Amino acid sequence: MRRVTKKAFIFLFGLAFIYFYCEYLIYLVVVAQCAWPTLQNADTLKVLIIADPHLLGPFRGHWLDKWRREWQMKQAFQAIMTLHEPEVVFVLGDLFDEGEWTDHEQFKDYVDRFYNIFYVPEPTKMYVTVGNHDIGFHNRIWRGSAERFEKYLKAPSVQHIILKENHFVLLNSMALEGDNCRLCTTARRAIEKLSDSLRCAEIPSDCENGPKFNYSKPILMQHFPLYRTSDSKCTDEDSPPLPERNKQFRNKIDAISHEATEYIVAKLKPRAVFGGHTHHGCLLPHSHGDTEFLEYSVPSFSWRNRRNPKYMLVSLTPTDYAVNKCGLPKEATVVVTAVVMIITLVVLLLRMSVMGR
Ligand SMILES: [Zn+2]
Repeated sequence: MRRVTKKAFIFLFGLAFIYFYCEYLIYLVVVAQCAWPTLQNADTLKVLIIADPHLLGPFRGHWLDKWRREWQMKQAFQAIMTLHEPEVVFVLGDLFDEGEWTDHEQFKDYVDRFYNIFYVPEPTKMYVTVGNHDIGFHNRIWRGSAERFEKYLKAPSVQHIILKENHFVLLNSMALEGDNCRLCTTARRAIEKLSDSLRCAEIPSDCENGPKFNYSKPILMQHFPLYRTSDSKCTDEDSPPLPERNKQFRNKIDAISHEATEYIVAKLKPRAVFGGHTHHGCLLPHSHGDTEFLEYSVPSFSWRNRRNPKYMLVSLTPTDYAVNKCGLPKEATVVVTAVVMIITLVVLLLRMSVMGR
């Protein structure tokens, strides 16, 4: 009788450990396998970039799906914060899956959940860009939804952030339509003003009142990719599978327009561009006159959108940068790990029985 009790105790303890490992520890184990890229200059800025968490809302998806995805994202994000300790976090839009359809109370609940899952401790900073699922595509933005997002997420359509003399410009992709809507005219006015300030800092002799900051080429971030007609040139390991990769993009829906791309590249002269929206990875070289840079599409951070969500670690100085793309546990790996551990536990207990312990 005593032997049976001992075995039952070992079995329950083993199950508890397997649960703890597969639901908590595995995120730390996988996140620990990725590191910050190194640069020559020691005083680098450590930047974490994620995209498209798509928190489910009140209308779509099953409650279990919602609970499960949010659990995974919270464990993964908090493991990243604990082990990598980034100085700043950028979230590249589509924070919410149904932001455009929610009423005021539902939106406030969304915001609370977002800040609970993606909690960042002091002194880490977090900035977000708006996505189409947060406020709707350009022609479907109802009155007040863009302002609501801007207010609660502290994310105006054009944000200029300077950290350790690195410049970041965060844009609202839906405000780059190029028409005369209020959102678009306000955004273009802000881009013009920012472009003047950057030019003034780059060539101080050209400006009357002197530069407001030290110049370095900005890093551009937004939800949509820059103009491209498909993902066919994406050969990144996380690119969409064929034939999806060759599917034609819809203009101003899957990427910003050609006109908007030329406009912001000419005005801001970025040294790198980061975007989300496709849920897949892509690395594309761009050449616009004398402005050359790489554009990175950041894969979705949600297991609902990918079986292998990713995040990016970027080390930055004003003149240099390096990017590491890091993986998170695949669901299949977690299930196989749990099954193997349970089988091992049962075999161990059976051997104990045979050996008469
Ligand atoms: Zn999107």
